[in-house]
Amino acid sequence: MNQERPIYLDHHATTPVDPAVLEAMLPYFKENFGNPSSSMHPYGWDASNALNTARKQVADCIGAKPKEIAFTSGATEANNWVLQGILADPLKMKEAHNQACESQTSQWPPHIITTNAEHKSILEPFKNAQKQGVELTLLPVDKYGQIQPELVDEAIKNNTILVSVIFANNEVGTINPIKKIGQITKKRGVFFHTDATQAVGKLPIDVNEMGIDFLSLSAHKLYGPKGGGALFIRNQSPKCTLEPFIVGGGQERGLRSGTVNVPAVVGLGKACEIASKNRESESARLTQLRDQLTELVEQGLRDINSSVKLVINGHPSQKLFMNASLSFTNVCFDEMIRHIGPLAVSAGSACSSASASPSYVLKAIGLSDDLANSTLRIGLGRSTTLQDIQKAAKILVEAAKKSAKKP
Ligand code: PMP
Repeated sequence: MNQERPIYLDHHATTPVDPAVLEAMLPYFKENFGNPSSSMHPYGWDASNALNTARKQVADCIGAKPKEIAFTSGATEANNWVLQGILADPLKMKEAHNQACESQTSQWPPHIITTNAEHKSILEPFKNAQKQGVELTLLPVDKYGQIQPELVDEAIKNNTILVSVIFANNEVGTINPIKKIGQITKKRGVFFHTDATQAVGKLPIDVNEMGIDFLSLSAHKLYGPKGGGALFIRNQSPKCTLEPFIVGGGQERGLRSGTVNVPAVVGLGKACEIASKNRESESARLTQLRDQLTELVEQGLRDINSSVKLVINGHPSQKLFMNASLSFTNVCFDEMIRHIGPLAVSAGSACSSASASPSYVLKAIGLSDDLANSTLRIGLGRSTTLQDIQKAAKILVEAAKKSAKKP
């Protein structure tokens, strides 16, 4: 049976591996299979050289230096590492920071700040730290899902050590004022981490200009393979010497033990290189298609005089170009879902869509349970065409029509 596959519009969840990325990776499964730690023969040298190339490609994509990049298994690990690495020796970390910034007293317990619209891989470790006695402030986002920098400034106390704010939200696509937050944290002598998993390769990022001390990223969100990611660790002003999270053989200059996943890292590097080249043209093309999609759905609902209305979530302009988070009023959503089979989209974020409770991000921006539970996250990508968008709009309007609540 050759059933037609749905149109893939779930690029926040993951992206297909770019053919050029796969091409770059293949030799590292085959002839270049060496262990980068094998320093006595060419098999090891080839692998080690490949890591150096990838380190530069990743660094260039975010304005960092290659030595500031440590490879991880993905963004979840990088996010956990930042917190654990700082909490392993918060007083030492604070002192290191204070050498470069305004002097503040170091106090126990340390205080950490994040927002209520972060990915679970930040929220869960931060809440676990709170259970262990660390002070936690969860700042509220506004109706667009954006954090106001003044709130960060007001929340910082003498014992604050870390502020972590997501670069671009994985559900509603809203981009945070990272540079302004970076200026505040620099001035106040506090470390600044950003989970840039959805932003890297899509938005211009310069860790120096933006005052970022730590940045997490993941290959599979930018047309690289799953199981590869990195953490940027600032090396100067201030020098951030993060304690390792995974210990053992001392790979990655003692920062992250375990044999590096060479093919994945090669893929990550190549994916960063391609994304940097294509970022602007892709942004222009997909912004247009994304806006066309919402216009077509709105128009379609008007044309059939539907009682269903469309609510577009996220910031009107400060938003990822590929994101359309759409809530439908007045529909029986379970029924609507049954009618959108030809579209591969998400209800909420892929990681939490197994749970029936409404998305905490949509609740954080003020949606009612009902509206939050009637929301689709649509993520366009490199393969998305105008035809896909026209077809998707038709399917959505038809599905809304069939599942409109009866008066
Ligand atoms: N942070 C954000 C914002 C994400 O969207 C994701 C992936 N859903 C992660 C972290 C986790 O990334 P990984 O799959 O690489 O662990």
